[in-house]
Amino acid sequence: MKNFVPPKFEETAFNCPYCGAYSNHLWYTPFIRDTSTISLRNIRIARCVHCNELSVWVHKNMLFPVTGNAPTANADLPEEIKTDYNEARQVLAQSSRSAAALLRVVIKKLCCHLNANDADLNTGITNLVEKGLPERLKIALEMARVIGEQAIPPGQIDPDDDPSTALKLFALVNLMTDAMITQPNQLKDIYDALSNSTSKIAVKK
Ligand SMILES: [Zn+2]
Repeated sequence: MKNFVPPKFEETAFNCPYCGAYSNHLWYTPFIRDTSTISLRNIRIARCVHCNELSVWVHKNMLFPVTGNAPTANADLPEEIKTDYNEARQVLAQSSRSAAALLRVVIKKLCCHLNANDADLNTGITNLVEKGLPERLKIALEMARVIGEQAIPPGQIDPDDDPSTALKLFALVNLMTDAMITQPNQLKDIYDALSNSTSKIAVKK
């Protein structure tokens, strides 16, 4: 999965808050045409050249969409979990602590979905490492206090969760999904294609 580049004021390329694609953005300054033309200099509008949707920036901050610079969910994240993930995106700008609390629930649900069905998230993540979750991802989950001695229980508000922590949790959900769902699916497709071509060669002989 390509690295997520968050939207940034007057940058020409970043991941679009609507379509999620890494794409070029064109910037415009709106104006009011009255008796004279007045530029609204503190307001800037960015248009994604991939999906044509517009984001509105006031005083260098994205005002709309409210999802701001939260990354879109990995397409392979199960739909029932994606609802919670998208809710976290919706509340990030207003309350990063609420977003972080929701994202810890998302990780717990993802862990259950991946058959690491254990009441304790620490054991669940350890089970996932045995199933192929990279060890470094487990360490990152400890550092983000999802698991480990300092862990915050899923859904609990923690005063230390700031926007930067919430953004890291979004990234960790997407990396977990990539490692445990996207990559195994891609590998299976390649394996199936190779098996088909190998059996065709065997028939030819
Ligand atoms: Zn777009």
